[in-house]
Amino acid sequence: MTPALAVLEKTFGYSSFRGDQEEIIQQVIAGGDALVLMPTGGGKSLCYQVPALVREGTGVVISPLIALMQDQVDALSAVGARAAFLNSTQSADERARVEAAYVAGELDLLYLAPERLRVPSTAELLSRGTIALFAIDEAHCVSQWGHDFRPDYLQLSVLHERWPSVPRIALTATATDRTRQEIVERLDLGSARQFVSSFDRPNIQYRIESKNSPGQQLLQLIRSEHAGDAGIVYCLSRASVEKTAEFLVEQGIVALPYHAGLDARVRAANQKRFLREDGVIMVATIAFGMGIDKPDVRFVAHLDLPKSVEGYYQETGRAGRDGLPATAWLVYGLQDVVQQRRMIDQSEGTETHRRNLSAHLNAMLALCETVECRRVQLLAYFGEESTACGNCDTCLSPPESWDGTVPAQKLLSTVVRLQRERNQRFGAGHIIDILMAKTTPRTTQHGHDAISTWGIGQDLTEQEWRGVVRQLLAQSLLAVNSDGFGTLVITDASASVLDNSRRVKMRREVARPSKAARKAAAIGTLPAEAMPLFERLREWRAAVAKQQAVPAYIVFGDATLRGIAISKPTTLAELGGISGVGEKKLENWGEALLAVVAG
Ligand code: ADP
Ligand code: ZN
Repeated sequence: MTPALAVLEKTFGYSSFRGDQEEIIQQVIAGGDALVLMPTGGGKSLCYQVPALVREGTGVVISPLIALMQDQVDALSAVGARAAFLNSTQSADERARVEAAYVAGELDLLYLAPERLRVPSTAELLSRGTIALFAIDEAHCVSQWGHDFRPDYLQLSVLHERWPSVPRIALTATATDRTRQEIVERLDLGSARQFVSSFDRPNIQYRIESKNSPGQQLLQLIRSEHAGDAGIVYCLSRASVEKTAEFLVEQGIVALPYHAGLDARVRAANQKRFLREDGVIMVATIAFGMGIDKPDVRFVAHLDLPKSVEGYYQETGRAGRDGLPATAWLVYGLQDVVQQRRMIDQSEGTETHRRNLSAHLNAMLALCETVECRRVQLLAYFGEESTACGNCDTCLSPPESWDGTVPAQKLLSTVVRLQRERNQRFGAGHIIDILMAKTTPRTTQHGHDAISTWGIGQDLTEQEWRGVVRQLLAQSLLAVNSDGFGTLVITDASASVLDNSRRVKMRREVARPSKAARKAAAIGTLPAEAMPLFERLREWRAAVAKQQAVPAYIVFGDATLRGIAISKPTTLAELGGISGVGEKKLENWGEALLAVVAG
C-alpha cells in the first residue's frame, strides 16, 4: 500500500481515490508542481491534504475564503490532522500561538489568507519552519480577466522565487482557456503538470420548467422531493427574496433570507445557521454562495432566469458536492424574458457591453427552450462534448417539438398590424387578448375587435400563447421594445416567418417528469427500510454538531450516514469499513454510533 493510500484510509476513512486524485497526489508527493482543474465537489481538497500529511513539514494553503477557514480547520481536526490558520480576524495572541506551533513543526496544514503575504514577517515566519508544499486554492483569483480577481494573488509568485524546491499545487473549478493560461503565466507554472477533469456533475439532475405560480411550484418541489433537505433558492431581487422566505416560513419550512441589503450581522448569522444546521433553506440573491462548500446542499432552485449560463452553472454547482443525488431546478416565464431584455436596454455602458449581455441572455434562453439533453448543451457551452445524460428533464421525459409556424404568423401579424396600421405597440397580454377575442376595456377603447386577426387564435390556451411569445423572443423572431414598457416589436428576422420562408420549431409545454421517472433517475436513493435509521443518525449528528459547535457535515457527511443506515454495522470493525469513517472518528464516535444503530 502506498503512503498516500494509507493516509486516505486511516485518516479520511475512504477506500479509493477518485478520478485524477491519485496521480495528482503522487505528482506533488514526488516534489513536482500541479495545476488542477476540477469541478466543484470533484474532491480538490484531498489533492493537497494527503500530500501535506505524507510529506515532511507543513502544507501551506493559500485561500481567499477567510470566513470558511475555521470550518476547514475544524474538518481536519475532526479526522485527527493538525491544522490551523492565520488571517486578519485573529487576535495577536491567537496568531502567536499558531506561529509557535508552526515553527515547532506541530502543524500538518496551515491556511493563510493571501494578504498575509504582504506582511514581510510572514515570509520570515515561513522560513523558520519546514514547508511540505504550497497549495493555491481558488487559483483563478490570480487572473485579471476572470470574474474574481484578487490583487493579493499576484504576490504568490514570490513563493516560488523564495522556495524554488517546494512543490506547488494550484487548484480551481473555474476554467476558461484564457484563465488557465493566465494562471500558468502569473504563477510561473509553465512546467507544472496539468490535470483537467470533466466539468460534468452527473449527480445533479437539471430541470427547467415554465413558471406558472412560482411559490406553489417551489413548495411542491420541496414537499414532494426535498422535505427536510438543505437547499438554496435564488431570486433576482431583494424584495422577492424576502417574500419567498416569508412564504416558505408560513408553510412551516425552515427558510432564511440572504441579500446585500440585510444588516451584515443578520447575513452572517443566517449563513452560519445554513452551514451548521441540517435542512435549512437559504433564499438568496446571487450575492450568496461564493466559497460555500457545504457538501450536502440537496437542491438549488432558481425562481428567476439567470443572466448567463456561466452564472447558472456556478450557482447550480453548489448542489450535491458530496456526490449524492441533487436537483438543479429552474422556473422561467415570459415575464423574465421581457424584464431582462428591458434591463439590458436600460443598462449603462457601451453598446458592446449591451451586446455581450444580450449574447449571454440568448445562450441562457437557448438552454431553457432546448428539446435536446440539457447537460449536452451545458457542457458544450464550456467546450466539452458529451452524449445524452439520462438525468435531466429532457432526457427523462423528452419534450415534443411542434411546428409553431402558423401561431407564430398569427401573433407576428397582429404585432405588425398594430405597428404599421395604427402605429401602436402593446405588451404580450393585450396581443393575446386580441388573438383570443377577449373583450377588455382596452380592446374596446382602441377598437381592436376590428383588427383582422381578432379571434384567430382561439385554438390555443392563454398559457400556450404565452409559451409562443416566450419562444419567439428566445429565437429573436420577436423583440421587446426599448421603450421601457415591455411592448413587443418585430425583428429583422420576423419577415422570414411572415412570408413563409422559415418554419418555427417550438417546444411543447410538458408536464413535470413523472414520479417514477424521477425515481429511476435518482442515483443511489436510500431504500425505504433504511430511512428510519438514517433519520435517527441525522438527529444524533445534529446533537453532536451542536455540542461541538461545528457544522453537521464535519461530524459525518450524508454519504457516510447513508452507508451506516444501509449496512447497519454491529461492531467497530464493521463500522470502520464504511466510507468516511477514519481512525479518529471511529475512536471518538464509534460506540455512540453503534448504540444509535442498535436503537
Ligand atoms: P471540491 O473542493 O473539489 O469542491 P471537496 O474537496 O470539498 O471538493 O470534496 C467534495 C466531497 O467529496 C467531500 O465531501 C469529500 O469528503 C468527498 N471526497 C473527496 N474525495 C473522496 C474520495 N476519494 N472518496 C470519497 N469521498 C471523497
Ligand atoms: Zn440529459
